[in-house]
Amino acid sequence: AKRNGRNKAQFYRPEFSQKTQEKVVLGQALRQAIDHREFSLVFQPKCRLGNGHLVGVEALLRWRHPTLGLLLPDRFIRVAEHSGQIVEIGRWVLESACKAIVRFNKNRAHPITVAVNISPKQITTGALTGHIRQALEASGCRPAWLEIEITEGILLQDSKSVQETLSTISSMGVSIAVDDFGTGHSALAYIDRFPINVVKIDRSFTMSIDRDRRKAALVRAFVSLADALDLSVVAEGVENSEQVRLLRRFGCEIGQGYFYSKPMSAPALARRYGLLRGR
Ligand code: C2E
Ligand code: CA
Ligand code: CA
Ligand code: CA
Repeated sequence: AKRNGRNKAQFYRPEFSQKTQEKVVLGQALRQAIDHREFSLVFQPKCRLGNGHLVGVEALLRWRHPTLGLLLPDRFIRVAEHSGQIVEIGRWVLESACKAIVRFNKNRAHPITVAVNISPKQITTGALTGHIRQALEASGCRPAWLEIEITEGILLQDSKSVQETLSTISSMGVSIAVDDFGTGHSALAYIDRFPINVVKIDRSFTMSIDRDRRKAALVRAFVSLADALDLSVVAEGVENSEQVRLLRRFGCEIGQGYFYSKPMSAPALARRYGLLRGR
């Protein structure tokens, strides 16, 4: 067993699974990841389903670990949430995303938005509002260019402080999207109580609308309900033209997924879309 320090040695006891050991190792490496500039963002286009024009991007986090190589969020976000490190990482993401979108929108007739994924911890620790304000100020990003993506779970808590935080953010002019919509428990029951602007239909629905009539019926119902509540709808995980056709028929206007583009670096995004007019 490795033993660099009293604390660590115990995690190499055989009764701990490989997964647990990996978590400990990653948790320690995460502490230096920001300072060592190991994080980066990639951007995935959100496009108008009708004409394919770019309307926004979602910022997705990547971690280039010195020995493990490129890690996707599924490998480390949960670890960072558990340890609380996600709050500082999330702050870095907000600042980097705002800087990137300012650069991107500089010479564009039609500015696009950037969406940033937010972990529940960022909200419940009370850090989010200040971090957003600082990210906007430091970059010169307009509030209207920033969108935050939160999950249904945080809304189900229905606490006064969550409500206040989201209201403050909303009144700053930043828009709020509910991510992975349809996978939570109460679906639309909460939406009235929070300042929500956008719902993002989860990939598990989009993926099967061209094969599963019941899933298609659900998506159609989500879209008309969202319309009635004046919310805009983004379908995530759009992979083929048949899905585009059906989504348009259901009244969904915006899509994101491999059909349009995989997530890409800022320079690649600028090469592909920088000179085109959006919308
Ligand atoms: P998400 O918010 O649902 O993001 C969409 C994920 O689906 C991304 O994976 C994206 O690459 C992938 N995807 C996009 N289009 C398609 C498609 O057409 N087909 C398929 N099969 N997949 C598609 P990624 O980048 O690995 O991110 C995974 C999750 O990690 C995200 O899910 C989000 O919940 C979380 N995440 C990513 N970046 C951050 C971050 O900065 N902060 C926090 N808190 N969470 C993040
Ligand atoms: Ca998301
Ligand atoms: Ca999502
Ligand atoms: Ca999803």
